[in-house]
Amino acid sequence: MRVYNFSAGPATLPESVLTEVQQELLNFHGQGLSIMEQSHRAKMSDDYAVLFLQGGATGQFSLIPQNICQPTDKADYVISGQWSKKSVAHAKEFVNVNVAADSTESKFTTITPQADWSLSADAEYLHFCDNETVHGVEFPELPQSDKLLVSDMSSNILSRQFDVSKFGIVYAGAQKNIGPAGLTIVIVRKDLLEREGQKISPVFNYKTMAAAGSMSNTPPTFAWYTAGKVFEWLKDLGGVTEIEKRNAAKSKLLYDTIDASSFYANPVDKAYRSRMNIPFTLANAELDALFLEKSAEQGMINLKGHRSVGGMRASLYNPMPLAGVQKLVDFMQIFEKENA
Ligand SMILES: *Cc1c(COP(=O)(O)O)cnc(C)c1O
Repeated sequence: MRVYNFSAGPATLPESVLTEVQQELLNFHGQGLSIMEQSHRAKMSDDYAVLFLQGGATGQFSLIPQNICQPTDKADYVISGQWSKKSVAHAKEFVNVNVAADSTESKFTTITPQADWSLSADAEYLHFCDNETVHGVEFPELPQSDKLLVSDMSSNILSRQFDVSKFGIVYAGAQKNIGPAGLTIVIVRKDLLEREGQKISPVFNYKTMAAAGSMSNTPPTFAWYTAGKVFEWLKDLGGVTEIEKRNAAKSKLLYDTIDASSFYANPVDKAYRSRMNIPFTLANAELDALFLEKSAEQGMINLKGHRSVGGMRASLYNPMPLAGVQKLVDFMQIFEKENA
C-alpha cells in the first residue's frame, strides 16, 4: 500500500515511474545490466542550453554569479521567503548584491509589489524565487524587467507554463517536481555561456558543461534516468498544459477547504498563494501532534510544517493526484468536527 506523501522534498514520484524503474532495475531493456551500470548521453535546445548538474539548487546560489559576473558587478535580488533569503547570503560572496525588495516583515506572507522595488540601473540580472517552498508564496506572474531575469524554480518548474525566452537562467533542484535528489537542472541562454565569469571548477562551469553535454565528469546516471521517465510520464498525460489545470484544481480544493473553515487558516496574501506548497495552521496548535498522528494512520504523511513556520504544510507537486488531496480535505473536515 502506497501512502500519499505530502513532503516538500524529496517528494512523491509517479507510481507508474517507480514501477518501471523497479521492472528495469536488474535488466535495462534486455541488456542484462542496470541503468546505474550503463554509459551516459544528453542533448540540448537551440537558444538555451539545458544543463544537468550536481550540487543542488543551493549550489546555484553561488554558481550563477560565479559563472556570469565579476565580483564587482551588481545584481538585484528580491527576497520573498527562506530560499531567496539564502540565495542572497550565498550570492553576495561573489557579486555585489542589491536587495531590491524584502518581505521579511510580513513573515513572508506576501511579495513586495513591484512598484516598491528599488532596482539598480546597472544590475547584471534580477534574481527571484518563483515559488517559496517553505512559506508557500508564489509569483502569480513574471516580474516586468528589461534586465536579465534569473529564477529559482526548484519547487514549481513543470507545474505551469512559462515563457523561457523571458529568462537568462532558470534553475531547479530535481527532487521537488522532477525526480530523485542529486540532479540540478540549469536552463541557460546560450549567449551567457560567453560571459567572463570567475575562477571556478570545470564541473560547475556552464560553458564547459554545455560543451560536454553535461558530462565533463560522471553524471548521476540513475537520477537522469528516473527524471527522463518523469518527463515521459508528464508528456503522456498531456504535458504542462494538462498538469497546470490539475494543479489548479488540487490547490483550489485545499484552499477552499481552509478558507471555508474557521478552524484552519493559511496566512498568505491570496494574490501570492502557492499552488505547490500550502502551509496551514490549526486553531489550536496543541492539536498539531494529534492531526499528524491521525493523518499518518490514514496513509497521509509528511504534513508537518517547516520548523520556521510551524503548523502543517501540504506539498502538492505534479505527481500528487487529486484523490490524495480529496482524502486530505475529507480527513481535515472530520478532524475539525471531532476537535473544534
Ligand atoms: C529545495 C529548494 C532549494 C534547495 O535545493 P537543494 O537541491 O537542496 O540545494 C532551493 N530553492 C528552492 C525554492 C527549494 O524548494
